[in-house]
Amino acid sequence: MESSLNAARRARELDEVRTGVVDVLVVGLGVTGAGAALDAASRGLSVAAVDAYDLAFGTSRWSSKLVHGGLRYLASGQVGVAWESAVERGVLLRRTAPHLVAAHPYLLPLTSDVGPGEAATVMTGYRLGDALRAAAGTPRSLLPGPSRLTAARALALAPSLRPHGLRGALLSWDGRVVDDARLVVAIARTAAAHGARVLTRCRALALAGDGARVRDELTGAEFDIRARAVVNATGVWAGGLVPSVALRPSRGTHLVLRPGALGALRAGLHVPIPGERARFALVLPQADGRIYVGLTDEPLDGAVPDVPEAPESDVAFLLEVLGGVLDRPLGRDQVAGAFAGLRPLVDGPGGAGRVGGATADLSRRHAVLRSPDGVVTVVGGKLTTYRRMAEDAVGAACPHAPASRTARLPLAGAGPVRPGLPRRLVLRYGAEAGAVLDLMRREPELAEPVAAGITLADLVWAVRHEGALDAGDLLDRRTRIGLVAEDRAAALPAAEAALYRT
Ligand SMILES: Cc1cc2nc3c(=O)[nH]c(=O)nc-3n(C[C@H](O)[C@H](O)[C@H](O)COP(=O)(O)OP(=O)(O)OC[C@H]3O[C@@H](n4cnc5c(N)ncnc54)[C@H](O)[C@@H]3O)c2cc1C
Repeated sequence: MESSLNAARRARELDEVRTGVVDVLVVGLGVTGAGAALDAASRGLSVAAVDAYDLAFGTSRWSSKLVHGGLRYLASGQVGVAWESAVERGVLLRRTAPHLVAAHPYLLPLTSDVGPGEAATVMTGYRLGDALRAAAGTPRSLLPGPSRLTAARALALAPSLRPHGLRGALLSWDGRVVDDARLVVAIARTAAAHGARVLTRCRALALAGDGARVRDELTGAEFDIRARAVVNATGVWAGGLVPSVALRPSRGTHLVLRPGALGALRAGLHVPIPGERARFALVLPQADGRIYVGLTDEPLDGAVPDVPEAPESDVAFLLEVLGGVLDRPLGRDQVAGAFAGLRPLVDGPGGAGRVGGATADLSRRHAVLRSPDGVVTVVGGKLTTYRRMAEDAVGAACPHAPASRTARLPLAGAGPVRPGLPRRLVLRYGAEAGAVLDLMRREPELAEPVAAGITLADLVWAVRHEGALDAGDLLDRRTRIGLVAEDRAAALPAAEAALYRT
Protein backbone atom coordinates (compact mmCIF):
# COMPACT_ATOMS: atom_id res chain seq x y z
CA MET A 1 0.00 0.00 0.00
CA GLU A 2 1.31 3.41 -1.01
CA SER A 3 2.31 5.83 1.80
CA SER A 4 1.61 9.03 -0.16
CA LEU A 5 -1.11 11.27 1.25
CA ASN A 6 -2.73 13.88 -1.00
CA ALA A 7 -6.06 15.54 -1.84
CA ALA A 8 -7.10 12.83 -4.32
CA ARG A 9 -6.54 10.05 -1.79
CA ARG A 10 -8.39 12.02 0.89
CA ALA A 11 -11.43 12.44 -1.39
CA ARG A 12 -11.47 8.74 -2.27
CA GLU A 13 -11.08 7.51 1.30
CA LEU A 14 -13.59 10.01 2.65
CA ASP A 15 -16.17 8.35 0.40
CA GLU A 16 -15.12 4.90 1.60
CA VAL A 17 -15.44 5.61 5.34
CA ARG A 18 -19.02 6.83 5.04
CA THR A 19 -20.18 3.27 4.43
CA GLY A 20 -19.32 0.11 6.38
CA VAL A 21 -17.68 -0.21 9.77
CA VAL A 22 -13.98 0.16 10.60
CA ASP A 23 -12.27 -1.75 13.41
CA VAL A 24 -10.82 1.43 14.93
CA LEU A 25 -11.63 5.12 14.58
CA VAL A 26 -8.83 7.37 15.85
CA VAL A 27 -9.71 11.00 16.54
CA GLY A 28 -6.79 13.47 16.47
CA LEU A 29 -3.69 13.25 14.30
CA GLY A 30 -0.98 14.59 16.55
CA VAL A 31 1.87 12.27 17.41
CA THR A 32 -0.38 10.16 19.67
CA GLY A 33 -3.27 9.72 17.21
CA ALA A 34 -0.97 9.11 14.24
CA GLY A 35 0.83 6.57 16.44
CA ALA A 36 -2.46 4.88 17.33
CA ALA A 37 -3.50 4.73 13.66
CA LEU A 38 -0.17 3.08 12.81
CA ASP A 39 -0.30 0.72 15.77
CA ALA A 40 -3.81 -0.46 14.87
CA ALA A 41 -3.27 -0.67 11.10
CA SER A 42 -0.03 -2.62 11.51
CA ARG A 43 -1.84 -5.12 13.75
CA GLY A 44 -4.04 -5.82 10.69
CA LEU A 45 -7.05 -3.79 11.86
CA SER A 46 -9.02 -1.51 9.52
CA VAL A 47 -8.56 2.12 10.59
CA ALA A 48 -10.00 5.56 9.94
CA ALA A 49 -8.12 8.47 11.56
CA VAL A 50 -9.41 12.05 11.46
CA ASP A 51 -8.15 15.47 12.45
CA ALA A 52 -10.17 18.67 12.59
CA TYR A 53 -7.32 20.55 10.93
CA ASP A 54 -4.11 18.93 9.80
CA LEU A 55 -1.44 16.42 10.79
CA ALA A 56 0.45 17.88 13.79
CA PHE A 57 -1.87 20.86 14.05
CA GLY A 58 -1.90 20.77 17.88
CA THR A 59 0.73 20.48 20.59
CA SER A 60 2.91 18.06 18.63
CA ARG A 61 4.41 20.84 16.50
CA TRP A 62 5.18 23.11 19.44
CA SER A 63 7.53 20.80 21.39
CA SER A 64 11.22 21.35 22.18
CA LYS A 65 11.92 18.44 19.79
CA LEU A 66 13.83 16.53 22.44
CA VAL A 67 13.61 12.77 22.34
CA HIS A 68 14.72 12.51 25.87
CA GLY A 69 15.90 9.77 28.12
CA GLY A 70 13.86 10.98 31.07
CA LEU A 71 16.67 12.31 33.26
CA ARG A 72 14.47 14.98 34.85
CA TYR A 73 11.90 12.31 35.75
CA LEU A 74 14.60 10.35 37.54
CA ALA A 75 15.42 13.50 39.49
CA SER A 76 11.79 13.76 40.65
CA GLY A 77 11.60 10.05 41.54
CA GLN A 78 9.39 9.06 38.55
CA VAL A 79 11.54 6.04 37.71
CA GLY A 80 8.86 4.32 35.55
CA VAL A 81 8.45 7.43 33.34
CA ALA A 82 12.23 7.76 33.00
CA TRP A 83 12.63 4.11 32.01
CA GLU A 84 9.83 4.29 29.44
CA SER A 85 11.42 7.41 27.91
CA ALA A 86 14.86 5.81 27.72
CA VAL A 87 13.45 2.69 26.04
CA GLU A 88 11.37 4.63 23.51
CA ARG A 89 14.30 6.96 22.72
CA GLY A 90 16.31 3.84 21.87
CA VAL A 91 13.54 2.49 19.64
CA LEU A 92 13.46 5.74 17.63
CA LEU A 93 17.26 6.12 17.41
CA ARG A 94 18.01 2.54 16.53
CA ARG A 95 15.11 1.15 14.56
CA THR A 96 12.09 3.19 13.68
CA ALA A 97 13.32 6.71 12.86
CA PRO A 98 17.12 6.93 12.63
CA HIS A 99 16.61 9.39 9.74
CA LEU A 100 14.64 11.79 11.93
CA VAL A 101 16.10 11.34 15.41
CA ALA A 102 19.78 11.75 16.31
CA ALA A 103 21.98 12.51 19.32
CA HIS A 104 22.66 16.16 20.04
CA PRO A 105 25.18 17.70 22.50
CA TYR A 106 24.21 20.16 25.28
CA LEU A 107 26.47 22.31 27.45
CA LEU A 108 25.73 23.41 30.98
CA PRO A 109 28.03 26.42 31.42
CA LEU A 110 29.67 26.47 34.85
CA THR A 111 29.18 30.11 35.81
CA SER A 112 29.11 31.63 39.30
CA ASP A 113 25.38 30.66 39.45
CA VAL A 114 26.36 26.96 39.46
CA GLY A 115 28.46 26.13 42.52
CA PRO A 116 30.85 23.14 42.58
CA GLY A 117 28.37 21.13 44.71
CA GLU A 118 25.54 21.68 42.25
CA ALA A 119 27.81 20.85 39.30
CA ALA A 120 28.76 17.56 40.99
CA THR A 121 25.08 16.73 41.60
CA VAL A 122 24.18 17.46 37.97
CA MET A 123 27.08 15.30 36.75
CA THR A 124 25.88 12.44 38.96
CA GLY A 125 22.45 12.82 37.35
CA TYR A 126 24.00 12.74 33.85
CA ARG A 127 25.86 9.54 34.79
CA LEU A 128 22.63 7.98 36.04
CA GLY A 129 20.99 8.96 32.75
CA ASP A 130 23.89 7.31 30.93
CA ALA A 131 23.36 4.14 32.97
CA LEU A 132 19.68 4.22 31.99
CA ARG A 133 20.75 4.51 28.32
CA ALA A 134 22.95 1.44 28.68
CA ALA A 135 20.22 -0.52 30.50
CA ALA A 136 17.76 0.38 27.72
CA GLY A 137 20.17 -1.11 25.17
CA THR A 138 21.10 2.10 23.33
CA PRO A 139 24.80 1.95 22.39
CA ARG A 140 27.27 4.75 23.22
CA SER A 141 27.99 5.05 19.49
CA LEU A 142 24.45 6.45 19.09
CA LEU A 143 24.38 8.46 22.31
CA PRO A 144 27.76 9.43 23.81
CA GLY A 145 28.27 9.71 27.57
CA PRO A 146 28.70 12.94 29.58
CA SER A 147 32.00 14.72 30.23
CA ARG A 148 33.43 17.90 31.70
CA LEU A 149 34.92 20.50 29.35
CA THR A 150 37.41 23.30 29.92
CA ALA A 151 36.27 26.89 29.50
CA ALA A 152 38.23 27.14 26.23
CA ARG A 153 36.47 24.08 24.78
CA ALA A 154 33.07 25.35 25.95
CA LEU A 155 33.72 28.69 24.23
CA ALA A 156 34.78 26.91 21.04
CA LEU A 157 31.38 25.17 20.97
CA ALA A 158 29.37 28.19 22.16
CA PRO A 159 31.30 31.42 21.43
CA SER A 160 28.51 33.68 22.67
CA LEU A 161 28.97 32.54 26.30
CA ARG A 162 30.38 35.12 28.72
CA PRO A 163 34.03 34.10 29.23
CA HIS A 164 34.43 36.08 32.45
CA GLY A 165 34.11 33.68 35.41
CA LEU A 166 33.42 30.62 33.21
CA ARG A 167 34.97 27.58 34.93
CA GLY A 168 34.13 25.18 32.10
CA ALA A 169 30.98 23.28 31.15
CA LEU A 170 29.29 19.93 31.61
CA LEU A 171 28.63 18.20 28.29
CA SER A 172 25.71 15.79 27.95
CA TRP A 173 23.91 14.16 25.01
CA ASP A 174 20.26 13.45 24.34
CA GLY A 175 18.06 12.56 21.39
CA ARG A 176 16.49 15.20 19.16
CA VAL A 177 13.96 14.95 16.36
CA VAL A 178 14.83 17.08 13.36
CA ASP A 179 11.24 18.39 13.24
CA ASP A 180 8.36 17.20 15.45
CA ALA A 181 5.75 17.88 12.75
CA ARG A 182 7.75 15.82 10.25
CA LEU A 183 7.80 12.94 12.73
CA VAL A 184 3.99 13.06 12.84
CA VAL A 185 3.81 13.14 9.03
CA ALA A 186 6.16 10.14 8.82
CA ILE A 187 4.05 8.18 11.32
CA ALA A 188 0.80 9.07 9.52
CA ARG A 189 2.24 8.08 6.14
CA THR A 190 3.46 4.78 7.55
CA ALA A 191 -0.06 4.18 8.90
CA ALA A 192 -1.42 4.98 5.44
CA ALA A 193 1.03 2.50 3.94
CA HIS A 194 -0.57 -0.12 6.21
CA GLY A 195 -4.02 0.79 4.92
CA ALA A 196 -5.16 3.39 7.49
CA ARG A 197 -7.42 6.07 6.01
CA VAL A 198 -5.81 9.29 7.21
CA LEU A 199 -8.31 12.13 6.84
CA THR A 200 -7.44 15.72 7.70
CA ARG A 201 -10.01 18.56 7.84
CA CYS A 202 -12.54 16.16 9.40
CA ARG A 203 -13.80 17.28 12.81
CA ALA A 204 -15.38 14.84 15.23
CA LEU A 205 -18.49 16.57 16.56
CA ALA A 206 -19.56 13.83 18.97
CA LEU A 207 -18.06 10.48 20.00
CA ALA A 208 -19.63 7.23 21.16
CA GLY A 209 -18.24 3.75 21.68
CA ASP A 210 -19.44 2.74 18.21
CA GLY A 211 -18.29 5.69 16.12
CA ALA A 212 -18.50 9.43 15.65
CA ARG A 213 -20.44 12.20 14.01
CA VAL A 214 -17.93 13.93 11.75
CA ARG A 215 -17.92 17.15 9.70
CA ASP A 216 -15.84 17.56 6.55
CA GLU A 217 -14.43 21.04 7.25
CA LEU A 218 -13.81 21.66 3.54
CA THR A 219 -17.45 21.20 2.48
CA GLY A 220 -19.44 21.41 5.73
CA ALA A 221 -20.98 17.98 5.01
CA GLU A 222 -21.77 15.92 8.14
CA PHE A 223 -21.72 12.13 8.25
CA ASP A 224 -21.15 9.20 10.62
CA ILE A 225 -18.11 6.94 10.81
CA ARG A 226 -19.07 3.61 12.38
CA ALA A 227 -16.39 1.75 14.29
CA ARG A 228 -15.95 -1.23 16.58
CA ALA A 229 -13.60 0.80 18.80
CA VAL A 230 -12.93 4.54 19.19
CA VAL A 231 -9.69 6.14 20.38
CA ASN A 232 -9.82 9.80 21.45
CA ALA A 233 -6.31 11.23 20.92
CA THR A 234 -7.19 14.92 20.84
CA GLY A 235 -4.60 16.06 23.39
CA VAL A 236 -5.53 19.24 25.27
CA TRP A 237 -8.94 19.18 23.52
CA ALA A 238 -9.80 15.64 24.76
CA GLY A 239 -12.21 16.89 27.45
CA GLY A 240 -14.31 18.63 24.77
CA LEU A 241 -15.29 15.23 23.35
CA VAL A 242 -15.23 13.17 26.56
CA PRO A 243 -16.22 15.50 29.41
CA SER A 244 -15.07 13.11 32.17
CA VAL A 245 -11.44 13.62 31.07
CA ALA A 246 -9.92 16.29 33.35
CA LEU A 247 -6.79 18.08 32.15
CA ARG A 248 -4.67 20.90 33.51
CA PRO A 249 -2.99 22.32 30.39
CA SER A 250 0.27 24.15 30.89
CA ARG A 251 1.77 26.61 28.42
CA GLY A 252 5.32 26.31 27.22
CA THR A 253 6.83 29.14 25.16
CA HIS A 254 9.88 29.09 22.89
CA LEU A 255 11.65 32.02 21.22
CA VAL A 256 12.93 31.72 17.64
CA LEU A 257 16.28 33.37 16.89
CA ARG A 258 17.68 33.80 13.41
CA PRO A 259 20.71 31.75 12.28
CA GLY A 260 23.91 33.26 13.67
CA ALA A 261 22.18 35.15 16.50
CA LEU A 262 24.45 33.34 19.00
CA GLY A 263 27.54 33.12 16.81
CA ALA A 264 28.77 29.79 15.48
CA LEU A 265 26.82 27.74 18.04
CA ARG A 266 27.72 24.04 17.77
CA ALA A 267 25.86 22.68 20.81
CA GLY A 268 22.66 23.28 22.71
CA LEU A 269 22.77 24.95 26.12
CA HIS A 270 21.20 24.19 29.49
CA VAL A 271 20.87 27.57 31.19
CA PRO A 272 20.11 27.48 34.93
CA ILE A 273 16.93 29.34 35.89
CA PRO A 274 17.92 31.59 38.81
CA GLY A 275 16.26 30.59 42.07
CA GLU A 276 15.01 27.18 40.83
CA ARG A 277 16.67 23.86 41.61
CA ALA A 278 17.42 21.61 38.63
CA ARG A 279 15.35 23.67 36.20
CA PHE A 280 17.04 24.89 33.08
CA ALA A 281 16.13 26.99 30.08
CA LEU A 282 17.19 25.37 26.82
CA VAL A 283 18.99 26.79 23.82
CA LEU A 284 18.22 24.47 20.91
CA PRO A 285 20.02 24.99 17.57
CA GLN A 286 17.92 23.62 14.68
CA ALA A 287 18.92 21.95 11.44
CA ASP A 288 17.78 25.03 9.46
CA GLY A 289 20.16 27.27 11.48
CA ARG A 290 17.44 28.93 13.55
CA ILE A 291 17.76 28.65 17.31
CA TYR A 292 14.90 28.00 19.72
CA VAL A 293 15.11 29.20 23.31
CA GLY A 294 12.63 27.68 25.74
CA LEU A 295 10.80 27.00 27.80
CA THR A 296 8.23 28.23 30.23
CA ASP A 297 5.75 26.12 32.22
CA GLU A 298 2.70 28.16 33.20
CA PRO A 299 -0.79 26.88 34.04
CA LEU A 300 -3.35 27.88 31.39
CA ASP A 301 -6.40 29.69 32.68
CA GLY A 302 -9.66 29.63 30.75
CA ALA A 303 -10.63 28.09 27.42
CA VAL A 304 -8.15 26.09 25.35
CA PRO A 305 -7.33 28.06 22.17
CA ASP A 306 -6.73 26.32 18.82
CA VAL A 307 -3.36 28.05 18.44
CA PRO A 308 -1.89 29.34 21.72
CA GLU A 309 -0.05 32.65 21.76
CA ALA A 310 3.29 33.36 23.38
CA PRO A 311 2.77 36.29 25.79
CA GLU A 312 5.36 39.06 26.02
CA SER A 313 5.92 38.16 29.69
CA ASP A 314 7.22 34.71 28.60
CA VAL A 315 9.45 36.33 25.96
CA ALA A 316 10.92 38.74 28.52
CA PHE A 317 11.49 35.91 31.03
CA LEU A 318 13.39 33.75 28.53
CA LEU A 319 15.51 36.67 27.32
CA GLU A 320 16.44 37.48 30.90
CA VAL A 321 17.42 33.89 31.78
CA LEU A 322 19.46 33.56 28.58
CA GLY A 323 21.15 36.90 29.22
CA GLY A 324 22.55 35.44 32.44
CA VAL A 325 25.12 33.35 30.52
CA LEU A 326 25.74 35.45 27.39
CA ASP A 327 28.63 37.83 26.85
CA ARG A 328 26.22 40.22 25.15
CA PRO A 329 22.57 39.70 26.20
CA LEU A 330 20.02 39.78 23.38
CA GLY A 331 17.43 42.52 22.97
CA ARG A 332 13.74 42.03 22.12
CA ASP A 333 14.46 43.17 18.54
CA GLN A 334 16.72 40.14 18.06
CA VAL A 335 13.81 37.74 18.61
CA ALA A 336 12.52 36.77 15.14
CA GLY A 337 9.49 34.82 16.37
CA ALA A 338 7.96 32.98 19.31
CA PHE A 339 5.60 30.05 19.70
CA ALA A 340 3.68 28.42 22.52
CA GLY A 341 2.26 24.95 23.05
CA LEU A 342 -0.05 23.46 25.65
CA ARG A 343 1.00 20.35 27.55
CA PRO A 344 -1.95 17.99 27.92
CA LEU A 345 -1.26 17.18 31.57
CA VAL A 346 -3.70 14.86 33.30
CA ASP A 347 -5.21 16.27 36.46
CA GLY A 348 -6.46 14.59 39.61
CA PRO A 349 -5.73 11.37 41.42
CA GLY A 350 -6.79 9.09 38.52
CA GLY A 351 -4.54 8.55 35.51
CA ALA A 352 -1.29 10.42 35.86
CA GLY A 353 -2.00 11.96 39.23
CA ARG A 354 -0.89 15.27 40.55
CA VAL A 355 2.38 15.26 42.40
CA GLY A 356 2.66 18.90 43.34
CA GLY A 357 0.99 22.28 43.14
CA ALA A 358 2.54 23.79 39.99
CA THR A 359 2.08 22.33 36.49
CA ALA A 360 5.86 21.90 36.31
CA ASP A 361 5.44 19.24 39.00
CA LEU A 362 2.57 17.33 37.37
CA SER A 363 3.52 13.83 36.32
CA ARG A 364 4.36 13.39 32.64
CA ARG A 365 3.05 9.82 32.61
CA HIS A 366 0.32 9.12 30.08
CA ALA A 367 -3.15 7.88 30.91
CA VAL A 368 -5.51 5.55 29.04
CA LEU A 369 -9.05 6.20 30.25
CA ARG A 370 -12.19 4.30 29.22
CA SER A 371 -15.49 6.17 29.44
CA PRO A 372 -18.73 4.31 30.25
CA ASP A 373 -19.78 4.18 26.57
CA GLY A 374 -16.47 2.54 25.66
CA VAL A 375 -14.49 5.45 24.13
CA VAL A 376 -10.81 5.07 24.99
CA THR A 377 -8.99 8.37 25.61
CA VAL A 378 -5.18 8.46 25.55
CA VAL A 379 -3.65 11.63 26.88
CA GLY A 380 -0.63 13.10 28.65
CA GLY A 381 2.80 11.62 28.08
CA LYS A 382 5.34 13.00 25.66
CA LEU A 383 6.40 13.06 22.04
CA THR A 384 9.20 10.65 23.00
CA THR A 385 6.81 8.00 24.31
CA TYR A 386 4.12 8.31 21.60
CA ARG A 387 4.63 4.73 20.40
CA ARG A 388 4.10 3.22 23.82
CA MET A 389 1.05 5.45 24.38
CA ALA A 390 -0.40 4.28 21.07
CA GLU A 391 0.27 0.64 21.87
CA ASP A 392 -1.46 0.98 25.27
CA ALA A 393 -4.46 2.80 23.77
CA VAL A 394 -5.02 0.30 20.95
CA GLY A 395 -4.46 -2.58 23.38
CA ALA A 396 -7.21 -1.16 25.63
CA ALA A 397 -9.58 -0.41 22.75
CA CYS A 398 -9.08 -3.77 20.97
CA PRO A 399 -8.05 -6.32 23.62
CA HIS A 400 -8.35 -9.27 21.22
CA ALA A 401 -6.20 -7.78 18.45
CA PRO A 402 -2.79 -9.27 17.61
CA ALA A 403 0.20 -7.84 19.52
CA SER A 404 1.65 -4.44 18.60
CA ARG A 405 4.40 -4.50 15.96
CA THR A 406 5.49 -0.87 16.01
CA ALA A 407 8.67 -1.27 18.09
CA ARG A 408 10.24 -2.88 15.02
CA LEU A 409 8.47 -1.02 12.24
CA PRO A 410 10.60 1.56 10.39
CA LEU A 411 8.76 4.82 9.64
CA ALA A 412 8.43 6.23 6.11
CA GLY A 413 11.88 7.49 5.07
CA ALA A 414 13.88 5.13 7.31
CA GLY A 415 16.25 2.84 5.41
CA PRO A 416 19.37 2.92 3.28
CA VAL A 417 20.16 6.25 1.61
CA ARG A 418 21.53 6.49 -1.96
CA PRO A 419 25.18 7.63 -1.65
CA GLY A 420 26.23 11.13 -2.73
CA LEU A 421 22.94 12.92 -2.04
CA PRO A 422 22.89 16.50 -0.67
CA ARG A 423 23.03 16.51 3.15
CA ARG A 424 20.07 18.87 3.45
CA LEU A 425 17.82 16.43 1.60
CA VAL A 426 19.07 13.41 3.54
CA LEU A 427 18.43 15.17 6.86
CA ARG A 428 14.90 16.00 5.77
CA TYR A 429 13.85 12.93 3.81
CA GLY A 430 16.14 10.04 4.75
CA ALA A 431 15.74 7.23 2.21
CA GLU A 432 13.32 9.36 0.18
CA ALA A 433 15.97 12.05 -0.48
CA GLY A 434 16.81 10.48 -3.83
CA ALA A 435 13.21 10.73 -4.99
CA VAL A 436 13.10 14.44 -4.06
CA LEU A 437 16.34 15.05 -5.96
CA ASP A 438 14.89 13.21 -8.96
CA LEU A 439 11.86 15.52 -8.78
CA MET A 440 14.21 18.55 -8.92
CA ARG A 441 16.06 17.06 -11.88
CA ARG A 442 12.83 16.42 -13.78
CA GLU A 443 11.48 19.91 -12.99
CA PRO A 444 14.63 22.07 -12.51
CA GLU A 445 12.66 25.24 -11.71
CA LEU A 446 11.62 23.54 -8.44
CA ALA A 447 15.17 23.85 -7.08
CA GLU A 448 14.45 27.55 -6.49
CA PRO A 449 14.92 28.55 -2.79
CA VAL A 450 11.80 29.78 -1.01
CA ALA A 451 12.89 30.64 2.58
CA ALA A 452 14.68 29.11 5.58
CA GLY A 453 16.55 26.62 3.38
CA ILE A 454 13.34 25.28 1.81
CA THR A 455 12.90 25.01 -1.98
CA LEU A 456 9.81 24.88 -4.15
CA ALA A 457 10.49 21.14 -4.56
CA ASP A 458 9.96 20.58 -0.81
CA LEU A 459 6.58 22.27 -1.09
CA VAL A 460 5.51 20.34 -4.18
CA TRP A 461 6.65 17.06 -2.57
CA ALA A 462 4.55 17.91 0.50
CA VAL A 463 1.45 18.44 -1.69
CA ARG A 464 1.97 15.22 -3.64
CA HIS A 465 3.09 12.88 -0.85
CA GLU A 466 2.71 14.44 2.63
CA GLY A 467 -0.96 15.40 2.64
CA ALA A 468 -0.56 19.20 2.54
CA LEU A 469 -3.87 20.69 1.43
CA ASP A 470 -3.28 24.44 1.74
CA ALA A 471 -0.60 27.09 2.21
CA GLY A 472 -0.90 26.86 6.02
CA ASP A 473 -0.14 23.13 5.93
CA LEU A 474 2.93 23.88 3.78
CA LEU A 475 4.33 26.84 5.72
CA ASP A 476 3.40 25.94 9.29
CA ARG A 477 3.63 22.12 9.46
CA ARG A 478 5.34 20.44 6.44
CA THR A 479 7.98 23.16 6.76
CA ARG A 480 8.53 25.57 9.66
CA ILE A 481 8.98 28.69 7.54
CA GLY A 482 5.93 30.19 9.30
CA LEU A 483 7.69 30.48 12.66
CA VAL A 484 9.11 33.81 11.46
CA ALA A 485 6.35 36.12 10.23
CA GLU A 486 8.44 37.89 7.54
CA ASP A 487 9.68 34.57 6.15
CA ARG A 488 6.08 33.33 6.03
CA ALA A 489 4.89 36.39 4.13
CA ALA A 490 7.77 36.08 1.65
CA ALA A 491 7.08 32.38 1.05
CA LEU A 492 3.29 32.57 0.73
CA PRO A 493 3.20 33.06 -3.09
CA ALA A 494 5.50 30.03 -3.56
CA ALA A 495 3.28 27.91 -1.28
CA GLU A 496 0.20 28.91 -3.27
CA ALA A 497 1.99 28.11 -6.53
CA ALA A 498 3.03 24.67 -5.19
CA LEU A 499 -0.63 23.77 -4.54
CA TYR A 500 -1.39 24.08 -8.25
CA ARG A 501 1.53 21.99 -9.51
CA THR A 502 -0.05 18.60 -8.88
C1 LIG B 1 6.05 23.54 24.95
C2 LIG B 1 6.12 22.05 24.92
C3 LIG B 1 7.33 21.41 24.75
C4 LIG B 1 7.39 20.02 24.71
N1 LIG B 1 8.59 19.44 24.47
C5 LIG B 1 8.66 18.09 24.40
C6 LIG B 1 9.91 17.49 24.09
O1 LIG B 1 10.90 18.17 23.86
N2 LIG B 1 9.95 16.14 24.02
C7 LIG B 1 8.85 15.37 24.26
O2 LIG B 1 8.98 14.16 24.22
N3 LIG B 1 7.65 15.92 24.52
C8 LIG B 1 7.52 17.27 24.58
N4 LIG B 1 6.33 17.86 24.83
C9 LIG B 1 5.13 17.02 24.98
C10 LIG B 1 4.54 16.64 23.62
O3 LIG B 1 4.70 17.67 22.69
C11 LIG B 1 3.07 16.29 23.76
O4 LIG B 1 2.88 15.39 24.81
C12 LIG B 1 2.53 15.65 22.49
O5 LIG B 1 2.88 16.39 21.35
C13 LIG B 1 1.01 15.54 22.56
O6 LIG B 1 0.57 14.98 21.35
P1 LIG B 1 -0.93 14.56 21.13
O7 LIG B 1 -0.99 13.86 19.81
O8 LIG B 1 -1.44 13.82 22.31
O9 LIG B 1 -1.74 15.94 21.06
P2 LIG B 1 -1.78 17.01 19.88
O10 LIG B 1 -0.52 17.10 19.14
O11 LIG B 1 -2.30 18.27 20.47
O12 LIG B 1 -2.86 16.42 18.87
C14 LIG B 1 -4.24 16.51 19.08
C15 LIG B 1 -4.91 16.66 17.72
O13 LIG B 1 -6.32 16.51 17.89
C16 LIG B 1 -6.96 17.34 16.95
N5 LIG B 1 -8.33 17.56 17.39
C17 LIG B 1 -8.76 18.27 18.46
N6 LIG B 1 -10.11 18.22 18.54
C18 LIG B 1 -10.54 17.46 17.50
C19 LIG B 1 -11.83 17.04 17.04
N7 LIG B 1 -12.96 17.41 17.67
N8 LIG B 1 -11.90 16.28 15.93
C20 LIG B 1 -10.78 15.90 15.27
N9 LIG B 1 -9.54 16.28 15.67
C21 LIG B 1 -9.42 17.04 16.77
C22 LIG B 1 -6.10 18.60 16.92
O14 LIG B 1 -6.29 19.33 15.72
C23 LIG B 1 -4.70 18.02 17.08
O15 LIG B 1 -4.05 17.85 15.82
C24 LIG B 1 6.22 19.25 24.86
C25 LIG B 1 5.00 19.89 25.04
C26 LIG B 1 4.94 21.28 25.06
C27 LIG B 1 3.62 21.96 25.21
